[in-house]
Amino acid sequence: MPRPLVICDCDEVLLHFAEPFRDYLGSVHDMELNFGSFSLAGSIRRRACGSGITQADVEPLLDGFFEDWIDRQFPATGAVEALAELSRGADIVILTNVKDMVRTRRGAELTRHGMPYEVMCNRGPKGPPVAALVAERQPSAAIFIDDLPPHHGSVATHAPDVHRLHMVADPELRALIPPAPDANTRIDDWASALPYIRGVLGLV
Ligand SMILES: [Mg+2]
Repeated sequence: MPRPLVICDCDEVLLHFAEPFRDYLGSVHDMELNFGSFSLAGSIRRRACGSGITQADVEPLLDGFFEDWIDRQFPATGAVEALAELSRGADIVILTNVKDMVRTRRGAELTRHGMPYEVMCNRGPKGPPVAALVAERQPSAAIFIDDLPPHHGSVATHAPDVHRLHMVADPELRALIPPAPDANTRIDDWASALPYIRGVLGLV
């Protein structure tokens, strides 16, 4: 019997990212992260001179964070419990946009926090890998959960039958990210999302 499938992002859905990344920038690089918009490059500046950084500066900072500070990430409230309950009736795949070299540590950190699920690394839009997963596994129903609106647009295009839940775990970012127009709904906390997801997947 095919089981339903949950395809879930990691950063700012299961694990907090902005808060530990801000600590990393301040402690290691003497930089400040203050979100004026949802743009990492536009929200980071050097403390010493006050100058901003460019988009090209962001990737090495992210690489350094995942290399040295990945163990400072911590779960969003209710995420561990919600996935544990869902995993009794559904398969769970964590689809995360990080380099392949991060996959083992990301999986280890998720397991350490009580989320021992399959981790798939991706670069770029998530519609194609979501479509491939659904084609391969033929789930009875599927839901995609992510904080970034463009991924919902990509999934709507490439896998329109997959239900799309927009969730932003960081309280500061919530105010900066409007509801994704291509998502079916926006729910920012796991306690409210859990019964909704169960309903979508037919887990009663
Ligand atoms: Mg994310």
